[in-house]
Amino acid sequence: MSRFFSSKYAQLSPYVPGEQPQGMLYTKLNTNESPYPPSQRAAQLAAEYTRQLNLYPDPECAVLRAKLAQTYGVSADEVILGNGSDEVLNFAFMAFCDAETPAAFADVTYGFYPVFAALNGVPYEEIPLREDFGIDADDYCGIGKTIFIANPNAPTGLMLPRTEIERILRSNPNNVVVVDEAYVDFGGESSVPLVREYDNLLVVHTFSKSRSMAGARLGYGIANSALIQDMNTIRNSTNPYNINSMTIAMGMGVLEDADYTRANCARIAETREYTTRRLMELGFEVIPSKANFVFARTDRLCGRELYLKLKERGVLVRNFNKDRISDYNRITIGTVEQMDALLNALGAILEV
Ligand SMILES: *Cc1c(COP(=O)(O)O)cnc(C)c1O
Repeated sequence: MSRFFSSKYAQLSPYVPGEQPQGMLYTKLNTNESPYPPSQRAAQLAAEYTRQLNLYPDPECAVLRAKLAQTYGVSADEVILGNGSDEVLNFAFMAFCDAETPAAFADVTYGFYPVFAALNGVPYEEIPLREDFGIDADDYCGIGKTIFIANPNAPTGLMLPRTEIERILRSNPNNVVVVDEAYVDFGGESSVPLVREYDNLLVVHTFSKSRSMAGARLGYGIANSALIQDMNTIRNSTNPYNINSMTIAMGMGVLEDADYTRANCARIAETREYTTRRLMELGFEVIPSKANFVFARTDRLCGRELYLKLKERGVLVRNFNKDRISDYNRITIGTVEQMDALLNALGAILEV
């Protein structure tokens, strides 16, 4: 730390992303990326846009917002785009939380929530998951805080039914409820249809997982236009050009090719069920997942040790050095071939 660093940020411990080794040396199952390339339509449209790189991108992202609005049956002023959904989440912490309105989220959930809270000087409550890692909606009812729920949750993969989200919305009419649906396309139940009914709901989506665009950095929020307007105030006060032209073009390409995305999600869901079955045959306890990853543990080896032994054999998974979950590993669902590489490595490590 330099002597110039603002004391405001001196205590910050930043988010630690999963390893991103350069070059494909590993069977990479650690950051929930798609194993499939994005729609070819994305690359085609991006190539056309490179001719316009001398110009700033459209700060309104009008074309892409209109396409998303059409896709979800909302209007364009109910959509905001972010440089990854992480940016939309940060906008939400900035716009809807402060000392009087703290944030609340699960003790085991997306690791960026406490970081965004700390960055913005927002106090927060961590609400423990049940023993079985499920969310008890009662714990969130009428709590008078800005609520963040990843649904399906990460890193557990467990889904909360929309009826339970609705109960939380109804009991907190004066607080924003943010539902982070990064993994919803793999079998979750989206809360987007509730946006028209609840003016306190913000649903956040990403192109990074189901749409194979983690490298392009594109996410969006869907909410009542007043909430979107608040977040646009933040966005336009930091970076009105937060989405670059090529990413806008690629986003359009991916949305035009919705069948391709759907087919990939179906393949991944199928591979998830296959992987779950095989892991259980190897003696693993596997949490039933609706996402593109599974969360698994074995009595035979502690989580960290298993992670290290897999890495020695060229397979990267994610282990979290955190209470309650250090014994688990989060395993991204890749292709069947990648999962077989994992399962073979596990067989060798556990000698079964
Ligand atoms: C991956 C992930 C995100 C971030 O996605 P980006 O759009 O790549 O920023 C947000 N929330 C959850 C729960 C995630 O797992």
